[in-house]
Amino acid sequence: MAAVTPGGRTPFIAGNWKLNLDHLQAIAFVQKLAWALKDARLDFGEVEVAVFPPFTDLRSVQTLVAADKLPLRYGAQDVSEHESGAHTGEIAASFLAALDCGYVLVGHSERRTGHGETDEQVGAKARAALARGVVPVICVGETAEDLETHGPSAVPVAQLAAALTGIDAGAEIVVAYEPVWAIGSGRAATPEQAQQVAAQLREVVADALGRETADATRILYGGSVKSGNVAGFLRERDVDGALVGGASLDVDEFSRIARFRQHVTG
Ligand code: PEP
Repeated sequence: MAAVTPGGRTPFIAGNWKLNLDHLQAIAFVQKLAWALKDARLDFGEVEVAVFPPFTDLRSVQTLVAADKLPLRYGAQDVSEHESGAHTGEIAASFLAALDCGYVLVGHSERRTGHGETDEQVGAKARAALARGVVPVICVGETAEDLETHGPSAVPVAQLAAALTGIDAGAEIVVAYEPVWAIGSGRAATPEQAQQVAAQLREVVADALGRETADATRILYGGSVKSGNVAGFLRERDVDGALVGGASLDVDEFSRIARFRQHVTG
């Protein structure tokens, strides 16, 4: 793929569907998305587009993508830190690999706050994914209270440093900086705020995994991204894409976000 962000990396636009769309709706959505992007002549060499459906959709998405040779990527929203055994309700990284999932989200704030996931668990999940060749998208971000008490970067920096413990230099990971106060609030961070934290997160990757890995690692911004603001984030040197929640459920809007280059203004 061509490297085309200001930082020399391939942009990554990811849609986190959360608890939305069953497997039949997923099939219709992925077909429409592929058509919309094809109609718009999106150059998939210039941007990687991925969806993160619920677990029960993944087999259907895999079948569709493989059968129609769609240039879309997909991943899961979570993974177990365990390989197998007495862990009711969990999904192993090997199961995701068997469905050709390229990616998996780990440490999304809704898992951290709603399910009490710790930094150590997030790290264990990232390692479990990597062991099976699935790239973890490691999500970090501060709450409004953290922001007030510690400033914007202290919490995400600490979360990422903890999650990278035990990961080998050279590992392919993606980092998603998602200020919790911006998620689903309609109040996105500014591109400058996102850049400031992303630059510090890149240094965390450099310390843990080496400079070369840090330079190759894509860092996404997430939190109320829409087609109207995505281009501003992608203009920043250390922001290489977007993790999109609500707006990823609207095919037309998500396809406009993926085509962020066409609506760059200013
Ligand atoms: C998310 O949940 O990852 C997210 C970024 O949500 P939204 O785009 O709706 O703020």
